[in-house]
Amino acid sequence: STTAETRAFEAEVSQVLHLVTHSLYSHKEIFLRELVSNASDACDKLRFAALSDASLTADDAELRIELSWDKDARTLTIRDNGIGMSREEVIENIGTIARSGTRRFLESLSGDARKDTQLIGQFGVGFYSAFIVADRVTLVTRKAGVPAGDGVRWESGGSGDYTIETVDEPRRGTTVTLHLKADEGEFLDGWRLRELIKRYSDHVAFPIRLPVEKDGKPSDEFETVNHAAALWTRPKGEITDEEYQAFYKSLSHDFNDALAWAHNRVEGSQSYTSLLYVPEKQPFDAVFSGRDERHGLKLYIRRVFIMDASEQLLPAYLRFVRGVVDSDDLPLNVSREILQENRLVAQIRSACVKRTLDLLEKVAKDEPAKYQQFTNAFGNVLKEGVAEDGANRERIARLLRFASTHGDDAQKSVSLDDYIGRMQAGQDVIWYVTADTHAAAKGSPQIESLRARGVEVLLLSDRIDEWMIGYLGEYAGKKLRNAAKGEIDAADGADAEQRKQAEDEAKPMLDKLAGVLGDEVEQVRVSHRLTGSPSCIVLGEYDMALHMQRLLREAGH
Ligand code: ADP
Ligand code: MG
Repeated sequence: STTAETRAFEAEVSQVLHLVTHSLYSHKEIFLRELVSNASDACDKLRFAALSDASLTADDAELRIELSWDKDARTLTIRDNGIGMSREEVIENIGTIARSGTRRFLESLSGDARKDTQLIGQFGVGFYSAFIVADRVTLVTRKAGVPAGDGVRWESGGSGDYTIETVDEPRRGTTVTLHLKADEGEFLDGWRLRELIKRYSDHVAFPIRLPVEKDGKPSDEFETVNHAAALWTRPKGEITDEEYQAFYKSLSHDFNDALAWAHNRVEGSQSYTSLLYVPEKQPFDAVFSGRDERHGLKLYIRRVFIMDASEQLLPAYLRFVRGVVDSDDLPLNVSREILQENRLVAQIRSACVKRTLDLLEKVAKDEPAKYQQFTNAFGNVLKEGVAEDGANRERIARLLRFASTHGDDAQKSVSLDDYIGRMQAGQDVIWYVTADTHAAAKGSPQIESLRARGVEVLLLSDRIDEWMIGYLGEYAGKKLRNAAKGEIDAADGADAEQRKQAEDEAKPMLDKLAGVLGDEVEQVRVSHRLTGSPSCIVLGEYDMALHMQRLLREAGH
């Protein structure tokens, strides 16, 4: 046909293909989850499009996913009657990596296969996982609403190039055929496929059907093998932890379990369901820290997937949360703009914040080891909330954990409540010190006298700490005070008389030092805060912390 052409993949695709097929091999069966999830997305998209154009689904209304196989031809087929793709869309979606995060992803690959493996699913390379088990993949698709003559056939051996041609395709939707590699015969088996669907795709909201076997071969008769009801619509009591975890994994593309989740149904002035997950580990720094790369909280309206709405439904400091919100009351034609200013959405958003903070409090109380894991992964993100969410400032502060002079290691395990519980009689402030590293904070001469008196000092060494403390100011009525600033009581318990005497004796020495240092310093004085070091730099009560000054200098200020 004149419309057939061979095209080279973008260089990046070849790299991704190579990476996927090699490093994901130990998780090879996830290809099925990925292809089924694409089929499910395609059904979601068509159901959404049919809201404004019912003719799109008129001839074939039951959206579904069907698997089949052929032992002789060694092929496995995944077919959906979802939205389908045009020729341009096939080239765009399957032949290129349009996503901005992907380039950075490739640049950031660590070469550590285990770590890289965890990243792959998060970058829309889902489709390419087919090449883990197949040496050739054929995709035939026809977009909903276009004539049969506008079908598209795409094929690739997964190395360098692909062919694409226009074909007749009477059915709308997409059929992906995998020509399995020699060793991958296990996927030509009804029981094996059924087991994988149950494990990875049970919660998919559309029926996934497998052929009934007759004489050891798939027949034309199909049966549904998954639950086929959106997981969050089912009563909590009926859902097992394994089902919650499987749903989390397909939602987040994470290979790890979720740390905790909260599933709630709200009925009242408005009705909605939320299912929120906190992951176990930080997904990936480069992407994660980019605030524009937020995904993972999906908005449904009456079971119809509308859009990823993480930014509309949660503040940035909770961007690690994954999950689903399904509203009964929002209009189906919402846009992002409408979401921004919708009163119902604002209510849902503040409820999601409350639920997440409740969940974290519960984990902190009941499962300290898990909570430590959370702190290690997301504690610094949560700190942003102190600045960002004034209304919940105290609750967020209660959830933070710090290193302190109470413990010996750098582990951030001390809460502000722990600190207050250990405060000495007469102590009325929470002492902290900031530095670039934990070791530097711990070794600060400025805290010697406090340590000597057995006063605990929080050791803050994250970039965000200084900024965060600026917003916090106080907690539970106790002021936070930087040990490197202003006056501190004497370490040695000397009385005013003795101090005065020491200061007088040192006067000639101080004058000499002040003369040498000149404008470099404001004042040279006798310190009562030191016990071991001969001298230290102290800031005025309202001066910017040394650490902060250094940060600003680095940033070119
Ligand atoms: P992701 O699903 O994360 O976007 P994939 O690599 O799995 O990444 O798929 C890439 C894109 O290809 C999808 O976003 C979608 O646009 C398109 N696509 C893949 N499979 C299908 C399908 N069965 N029907 C329609 N479009 C599909
Ligand atoms: Mg996908």
